[in-house]
Amino acid sequence: MHTLNKQDILTYLIGANDNELFERANKVKRQVFGDEIYLRAIIEFSNVCNKKCHYCGLRAPNGAITRYRMRDTTILNAAAMATYRGAGTIVLQSGDDFSYSTQALGKIIRDIKDRHDVAVTLSLGDRGLDEYAYWRDCGADRCLLKLETTDPRQYKRLRDGEDFSARLHRVEFLQNLGYEVGSGIIVGLPDSDIISALRDILFITDLDLAMIAAGPFVPHPQTPLANAMPGNISLSHRVTALLRILNPSANIPATSALSALDSECRELALLRGCNVLMPSMTPEEHRADYNIYPGKNQSDTNVSDSLTLAKANIRSLGLVPSTSKGFSPRSHNVYESTSRSATGHSSRRKTECGQVIAD
Ligand code: SAH
Ligand code: SF4
Repeated sequence: MHTLNKQDILTYLIGANDNELFERANKVKRQVFGDEIYLRAIIEFSNVCNKKCHYCGLRAPNGAITRYRMRDTTILNAAAMATYRGAGTIVLQSGDDFSYSTQALGKIIRDIKDRHDVAVTLSLGDRGLDEYAYWRDCGADRCLLKLETTDPRQYKRLRDGEDFSARLHRVEFLQNLGYEVGSGIIVGLPDSDIISALRDILFITDLDLAMIAAGPFVPHPQTPLANAMPGNISLSHRVTALLRILNPSANIPATSALSALDSECRELALLRGCNVLMPSMTPEEHRADYNIYPGKNQSDTNVSDSLTLAKANIRSLGLVPSTSKGFSPRSHNVYESTSRSATGHSSRRKTECGQVIAD
């Protein structure tokens, strides 16, 4: 049985034994998912946002980007194209844009589910809990809502006054609604260090998530963090590798923030514990305007070939692109047994893959 205690995690985080860490993460990933890499087609249907996150180019005060909102027919056409090209999951993502009503989004979800045999993931930010409940009834399968950082003070600072506990409550509420829930962090935000990465890894692991996203911070020139240092790519790979070892059956994407910093390192993450790619299937005319950070969607050249390109990249690594819906075995309790801790967060002793967090 393998164990990872806090000291082991810290030792790996400083890069003291990268080869061993990445091999270990790859082995765990292969035990659970084999050679398969799940494809999620992401449709970024609006870049309008009412929030002011200091790290993000879509923040409301940024007057330098061209804003767009896709109509429902355009969203449905993009979803049809994505499924035709073999995506098993459609991710609907946007800024926190409340101009799409609960019912309008519900109809889009229902239409996609009626027309295609796909899973639907929502990444819509801080919409109401009642709205998320309604969309679950409309057939949405998953939600993605990142904590971004697990330090409440940093959260408040970087999300311009927002409340960390409200975000956390939302994540846990979504889990209780029966969604497969993904959350995660941005690696290398200003004022973070190895100790904060350790805290993030432990906190995120304790949430029992079906999906975990952790990608590097990419400074955006039209934000208050324009002059901050970018996140470190190796550290980001270490964080996802550790998250894989601690969360064997969670879906963990190789994020596009990696390829924004270096064209090769998103694919490399697939050999270091990640098992998901999320190519953009946003119509070409809008793709460049979904400018969360510079270089976003750069590698997804055009609508017709971003999924095909992702598949080719996966094959070139000797891996197998999967067109399945790609649910996490965790949501069916195949690999892990779970229990709730006294803190209200889940606490687990992972039995089948033999990973245990010790103090
Ligand atoms: N508005 C929604 C979804 C869109 S933002 C929300 O905030 O939840 C999607 C993700 O982009 C965020 O969760 C954040 O992790 C990521 N992001 C934003 N700006 C970034 C940056 N500069 N570098 C890396 N990731 C960033
Ligand atoms: Fe809006 Fe999401 Fe960007 Fe924050 S991270 S500004 S909520 S799009």
